[in-house]
Amino acid sequence: MPLKPTEMIWHNGKLIPWADAQVHVMSHVTNYGSSVFEGVRYYNTPAGPAIFRLKDHTRRLLDSAKIYRMDIPYSVERMMDATCEVVAVNGLPSGYIRPLVLRGYGEIGVNPSNTPIEVYIATWEWGKYLGHDAVEGGVDACVSSWHRMAHNTLPSAAKAGANYMNSQLIKMEATANGYAEGIALDSSGLVSEGSGENIFLVRDGVLYTPPLSASILPGITRDSIMQIARDMEIPVQERDIPREWLYIADELFFCGTAVEISPIRSVDRIAIGNGKRGPLTRRIQERFFGIIQGRLADEFGWLTPVPVREPVSA
Ligand code: PMP
Repeated sequence: MPLKPTEMIWHNGKLIPWADAQVHVMSHVTNYGSSVFEGVRYYNTPAGPAIFRLKDHTRRLLDSAKIYRMDIPYSVERMMDATCEVVAVNGLPSGYIRPLVLRGYGEIGVNPSNTPIEVYIATWEWGKYLGHDAVEGGVDACVSSWHRMAHNTLPSAAKAGANYMNSQLIKMEATANGYAEGIALDSSGLVSEGSGENIFLVRDGVLYTPPLSASILPGITRDSIMQIARDMEIPVQERDIPREWLYIADELFFCGTAVEISPIRSVDRIAIGNGKRGPLTRRIQERFFGIIQGRLADEFGWLTPVPVREPVSA
């Protein structure tokens, strides 16, 4: 997916032109992967652009930074305002937002204590992550030979740039072998998550998802799905999932900001259910997409409306 620049990027409290948002090659982040970030979407609702679960994403960004001892001089509220500012100024009706905190140019040793913290927020247009047909038709996945990191190696609750070296191994192996995505196990061999998304399984009308202890990122879409399921009185359980449960599931789906909710139609070439999107997946998708697109009431308080930039009159 080629990246289409927008006009402005927020950097340490100011809006700067997209082209000026540069880091030096000898920065700490380029050498050691010292960054934490977020991925957020905003949608074009009938009432104008609205950001999905902005507060929760911002909080997770600050949590990730705290785990890595990065002091961000901005509160959750300031970061939320900055996010709205950058969305408004770039004027896209819908898109993707990338808040990014990195250790910049200063000292070059592994100890990052004396490197400057740079905070950026960018936004751009981004379509369907696993292709246009994924949401209805589903994708083919494999179990990866790569595992997620154990909690005492790289903590999965932090959305850190370096974690995505592991994600890249999972994703590249999957696509090289003809699959859309890989499903990683955790260090004890239980189901963890995809390279950039959480996973849910349906069996006999019950929704299952791996617990936070299975080296997963605490996904905000995952949490939204659990809230929707509880509201719809669909039983939902966070519990250990052995690999073989994937193959005998009635339904399986990935969820995340990029993939939204995408059914999995096969794992390791074994068809899941009848190899098509299942009825429960569809019901949850309908409610989820209805809310985020502003067709259904925002009952859970997930949307932050953004005032749209006034069109410049000729
Ligand atoms: N796991 C990983 C590894 C991810 O990168 C993502 C995407 N942020 C997710 C799960 C899903 O999280 P969310 O629903 O908050 O986007």
